[in-house]
Amino acid sequence: MSNVTYDFDGDTVIITGGSSGIGRRIALDFGAASATVLIADIDEKPGDGSEPTHVAIEDAGGTAAFVETDVSDPDRIAAVVEAARDYGGVDVMVNNAGTIARKGVLDATPEEYDRVQAINARAVLLGCQYAAADMIDRGVEGTILNTSSISSEHSLHDHISYDASKGAVRMITRTAALDLAEYGIRVNAIAPGFTATQLSASGPEGVREAVESGEIMKPVPIGRAAEPEEIAAGALFLCSDAASYVTGEQLYVDGGYQIL
Ligand code: NAD
Repeated sequence: MSNVTYDFDGDTVIITGGSSGIGRRIALDFGAASATVLIADIDEKPGDGSEPTHVAIEDAGGTAAFVETDVSDPDRIAAVVEAARDYGGVDVMVNNAGTIARKGVLDATPEEYDRVQAINARAVLLGCQYAAADMIDRGVEGTILNTSSISSEHSLHDHISYDASKGAVRMITRTAALDLAEYGIRVNAIAPGFTATQLSASGPEGVREAVESGEIMKPVPIGRAAEPEEIAAGALFLCSDAASYVTGEQLYVDGGYQIL
C-alpha cells in the first residue's frame, strides 16, 4: 500500500461547501498539495466546532481564504470566481455545496423542490459556466469537478427533490464536458456513497441513528460508510493531470453500492 501525492502548486482552487464534510476534506487535501484554496460557503465554521478550513490550511503552511457565499444566488457564484482573480484566477472549480430534503413524491412541495435544485443543481451549472468563462478568457485549460451522488442514478425513498437534483448534476457534468472539451477544460463528477458528514446524519429522528449505527449501510458491499478522505482521494485524482484524458465521467466512491 502506498499513498498518492499530488502537486497543485501554482493552481487556485475554488471549493463551494468547503467548510465542512466532504468539501472540507477536499479543500484540506488541495491545501496539502500546495494549491491556493478559496473556500466558498454560506457558513465559515464546520458544525463540529473545529477551526475553519481556511485557517486549518494556513496553520499547516498553505494559502487559503474564505469567501462567504450562498450558491443559490447566481451573482454570488460569479463574485467568487471574480474574487479568485486576486489569486491569479481559478484553475480548478469544485462545485460541491449541497443540501438535502427528505420528502417523497406525495409530500414534496414546489418550494422545497426549487430550493434543492437551486443549491444542488443550478449552482453546479452556474459554477461550471462562470469558471469556464473565466478560464477561457485567461486561456487556461482548467478542470471542473461536481459533487454528484449515488442518488444521481439510484432512488432512495423520500428523497425525490435530492435525487432529481443529483440526476441533473450527472447530466450537467456530461454536457458541460462536451461543450468545454474544445477549450481543453475537463469536467467530471465524483459520486459519493453514504459518507459520515453533517448532511448524511441530519434529518428526521431515526436517520441519524441509522447512519451512525451502520444500519443504513447494510446494502453497501464494502459494509460501511465512506470517510470524507476517501471521497477527496477520488476528487483530487479527477482534477489532476493523472486524469488528463478523463472528462464527462462520474466516478463512484461508494463501497460498491451502484453494483446493486
Ligand atoms: P455537509 O453538510 O457536511 O457540507 C455541505 C457544505 O455545503 C456545508 O459546509 C454547508 O454550509 C455548505 N452549503 C450548504 N448550502 C449552501 C449554500 N446555499 N451556499 C453555500 N454553501 C452551502 O455535507 P456533505 O455530506 O459534505 O455534502 C457535500 C456534498 O456531497 C453535497 O453536494 C452532497 O449532496 C454530496 N453527497 C454527500 C453524501 C453523504 O453521504 N454525506 C453522499 C453523496 C453525495
